[in-house]
Amino acid sequence: MPLKLAIVGRPNVGKSTLFNRLTGRRLALVDNRPGVTRDYREGAAQLGDINLTLIDTAGFDCQSQQGLSLSIKQITEQAVSQSDICLFLFDARVGVLATDNEVAGYLRKQNKPIILVANKCEGNLNKSHIHEAYSLGFGEPLKISAEHGEGIGELICALHEVTVNSANLESPQLSWKTNELTSENPLKIAFVGRPNSGKSSLINKIIGADRLLTGPTPGVTRDAISILTNWKGLDVRIHDTAGMRKRAKVVDKIEKLSVGDGLRSICFAEIVVLVLDSEIPFESQDVRIADLVEREGRSVVIAANKWDLIENKQHHLQHLNELFVRRIPNLRGACLIPVSALTGFGLYKLNQTISKTWNIWNRRVPTSHLNLWLEEIKSSHPPPAPGGRRVKLRYITQIKTRPPSFVIMCSKPRDLPTEYLRFLKNGLRDSFGLEGVPIRIILRSQSEDNPYA
Ligand code: GDP
Ligand code: GDP
Repeated sequence: MPLKLAIVGRPNVGKSTLFNRLTGRRLALVDNRPGVTRDYREGAAQLGDINLTLIDTAGFDCQSQQGLSLSIKQITEQAVSQSDICLFLFDARVGVLATDNEVAGYLRKQNKPIILVANKCEGNLNKSHIHEAYSLGFGEPLKISAEHGEGIGELICALHEVTVNSANLESPQLSWKTNELTSENPLKIAFVGRPNSGKSSLINKIIGADRLLTGPTPGVTRDAISILTNWKGLDVRIHDTAGMRKRAKVVDKIEKLSVGDGLRSICFAEIVVLVLDSEIPFESQDVRIADLVEREGRSVVIAANKWDLIENKQHHLQHLNELFVRRIPNLRGACLIPVSALTGFGLYKLNQTISKTWNIWNRRVPTSHLNLWLEEIKSSHPPPAPGGRRVKLRYITQIKTRPPSFVIMCSKPRDLPTEYLRFLKNGLRDSFGLEGVPIRIILRSQSEDNPYA
């Protein structure tokens, strides 16, 4: 079965032109069965090595009695429901119009890969129209010219990325995929931390069986490196590096291998549980692991283990929280949960916190809320004005989740001090409850293409 690709967008953005280019004007299939009305045409196309059935929605949108935008909505809905992937076209010469926003609003709610395409990009372009398109919520648009056949190679690459690599967490085109946790799609957790903090013991307690090895018994290897289980109603896949680390002990390279293992399991995981030994918390290895978590964009919960050994618990918790702020400021807002793998204390709270944090990692903040926030920031804490010329913040939109990533359009991004960027990050975190997840901000100016965070 060829993949079905719908070309959608408001009238006149160039959908038919693209359809004709990609199909080579091969005859569209028209469904003539009586009683079947279909407001789109289909055609076969081969792009690179991908076989496609294209669905074109153009040419039908002006005939409705019910008003233009309603009609576009109906036709788009019909085409989208029939397709596996959508190309969402807008006109780079005109920029984003209200109807484009309406179509975008509908597409964002669909659990389908959407590739945003800026058409008519040949020749000189007003870049601000391209930048406006971030507000549509599908990340950076792919620039093409359907009429002149430009950018078709990039389009093929994007399709490849979507079809071949549909599980790719970092793909902006897929970033709005809704995520339901099921036993087929469990939440991926890694327990990381310094040796002997109690990772294996915690995992044992969670899976309720003594399947992992605890205690320093060298020379024992295990087969499984990940365990699927339902933990108090939450489907999880637990990645266990403790066993690997124990093997490492045999060859006496604990330090080196455990950080390597940590990195591997952080890449695997959607959420990382940093397991501390509450008696020796936030040692250099913990700090290094925390940096990796932030760098890889994973969400994080801190489990302060061996809580049964702590005498003055209230005082110690305060102490841990202070140390946390000081030693790992870049994980600000992450939850620190006291637990005991020995007694089971705190494990329900750990479970609930993991689930909550994972949802935050997947959260999408509406563009309108973000811009209300930005207006407030601009009037209460405007950016500094180096040399008397203030950096102007224009608007903000979230371009992806996992982790939440935002683009801020502004004048002279390079002049915005790092401290102010940190201030914006913390502001986003506090205002929208984005605790326990890294936040990415990309600054863009309308006159240059170089993004940098
Ligand atoms: P549709 O209503 O979305 O199907 O749009 P059409 O394919 O009918 O195109 C609308 C208009 O835009 C036509 O006049 C096309 O010639 C023009 N057009 C389509 N693609 C391009 C392009 O890449 N560059 C330019 N400059 N014009 C284009
Ligand atoms: P790992 O190297 O991080 O996997 O740590 P282990 O799970 O092997 O635990 C190291 C040691 O700490 C073992 O002797 C465990 O029995 C002990 N331990 C683990 N969790 C707890 C706990 O919650 N309380 C106490 N008192 N000891 C623990």
